[in-house]
Amino acid sequence: MQSLPSGRIPDAADIVLIGTGFASTFFLSAILPRARPGLKIVVLERGGNVPHAKRIERRKDAEFDADGYYRTIGDPNKKWRFSTGFGGSANCWTGNTPRMLPADFEMRTRFGQGMDWPFSYDALEPYYTRAEEMMQISGARNRLAPSTSPYPLPPHRPSLPEVALSKAWPGLIGPMPTARASRATPTRPQCCGNGVCNLCPVQAKFTIMGDLSAPYDDPRVSCVFDCEAIAVLTEGGAARAIAWRAADGNTGEIRADQIVLGANGFFNATLIKQSGDTSLLSGRRLHEQLGIAGMVYLDGMDSFQGSSYVTGIAYPLYADEERRRTTAAALIETRSVGQMRLEAGSWRQVLPFRLVIEDLPDEANAVTPGSDADPRSVVHFGGIGDYARKAMERADQDLARIFASLPVDWIELDGPAPTESHIQGTTVIGHDPAHSVTDQDGLHHRWRDLRVLGSSLFPTGAPANPTLTLSAHALRAGDRAGSL
Ligand SMILES: Cc1cc2nc3c(=O)[nH]c(=O)nc-3n(C[C@H](O)[C@H](O)[C@H](O)COP(=O)(O)OP(=O)(O)OC[C@H]3O[C@@H](n4cnc5c(N)ncnc54)[C@H](O)[C@@H]3O)c2cc1C
Repeated sequence: MQSLPSGRIPDAADIVLIGTGFASTFFLSAILPRARPGLKIVVLERGGNVPHAKRIERRKDAEFDADGYYRTIGDPNKKWRFSTGFGGSANCWTGNTPRMLPADFEMRTRFGQGMDWPFSYDALEPYYTRAEEMMQISGARNRLAPSTSPYPLPPHRPSLPEVALSKAWPGLIGPMPTARASRATPTRPQCCGNGVCNLCPVQAKFTIMGDLSAPYDDPRVSCVFDCEAIAVLTEGGAARAIAWRAADGNTGEIRADQIVLGANGFFNATLIKQSGDTSLLSGRRLHEQLGIAGMVYLDGMDSFQGSSYVTGIAYPLYADEERRRTTAAALIETRSVGQMRLEAGSWRQVLPFRLVIEDLPDEANAVTPGSDADPRSVVHFGGIGDYARKAMERADQDLARIFASLPVDWIELDGPAPTESHIQGTTVIGHDPAHSVTDQDGLHHRWRDLRVLGSSLFPTGAPANPTLTLSAHALRAGDRAGSL
């Protein structure tokens, strides 16, 4: 990898790319094979390049906590989570990779809720397959998310309660697709199932650093670490340069033909807003799922036989199209790692799970830039909407119905978790500039040659975790980027 010190940052490039997470890396992987030999790409990454061994030594998945990058106005219990540095949150993600379902792309048309995406599931399907291949996903296909090819790796072994649930709900409950390897790959060992996914001790989950660093070794690409992009500079309605500030105090500008932001839902929005984008929707519609952890206490059935952390996914509350007209869809993750039951003889008779409820974006929830005195991004979040609240209110009855085929002693639910670690909305895609910030490929409606990538583009989220979808979208945007 060509890693430049801040004193050697060039003042011109063909493309400047911000961030080294999923969005940037999948885009780079798509464009490099067909880009011309002399193309010059400079990548700015605000965090460092900290090897896995160093993270293990420090017992920390990131150099800095997300809390240091933002402050909140509104719901005091709400948190957001991400990590910075080479690979972004790939270093700390859990690795669950369900696809979104076809209905998720047509929320307005089918259910009269949220917004439609500007393309269908079918348009993204080949890129889902490509992203799954690149991440070597373990899983078993499901008719709800149609695909033309099998997953690269077989699914993880389920627990006994998960086997019973999949028999009771055929086609609706099955293995969680995951980037935690079910068997060794050329770059990763098999998942050891210890549940410490945020700092996987054996590197069994897909990461950019471990599995997809090759684009950064390309001679056309130069990386600068510990260097923050602070503004996009525009001229005549086009993005023409990026202003940067390095951790060592150096500052400068890089002129470029194209600028690509893959800096996540907080920083994509912060950057374009502090560059002067005053359009109505920019920074708005921040949202993520609402997660609620729980336990099914079992009478005489042992659990925890699964071969990874999250081993099951349940779709009965997700695939129910009638429910979705009025009430948010939800998925249930079931786990093979978690707290055991504190009664002698029944230690393993418990199934840990998480109910994950979609929340519709609300324009009042937004990210805005900080000030000179306090440069942290400001997150305005008033709380979840009524659609999600309805799902939360009926969670007890829904869960009793779904788990009814198990020998249930009782079901326990925690309160809402502070975050699902997914940052969605803020630079949403759409055909109509009056209702979106970027077009279907992430190109900014107002400023030419500026592209935004990642889940900040999501016009409506879904119960599904976002990363496979944002990676597939970045591949598609890269394929459609024209000649380079
Ligand atoms: C603990 C945890 C568990 C998760 N588990 C899952 C899961 O199981 N499944 C799933 O689908 N998703 C999961 N996620 C979410 C997932 O990690 C994100 O969706 C994904 O990382 C987003 O990719 P991205 O490339 O858009 O952004 P990021 O991964 O956040 O990368 C953005 C990069 O840009 C850099 N950057 C930001 N601002 C600037 C700037 N101004 N200048 C230069 N560089 C900048 C950052 O340092 C970072 O490296 C999890 C997240 C966390 C935190």
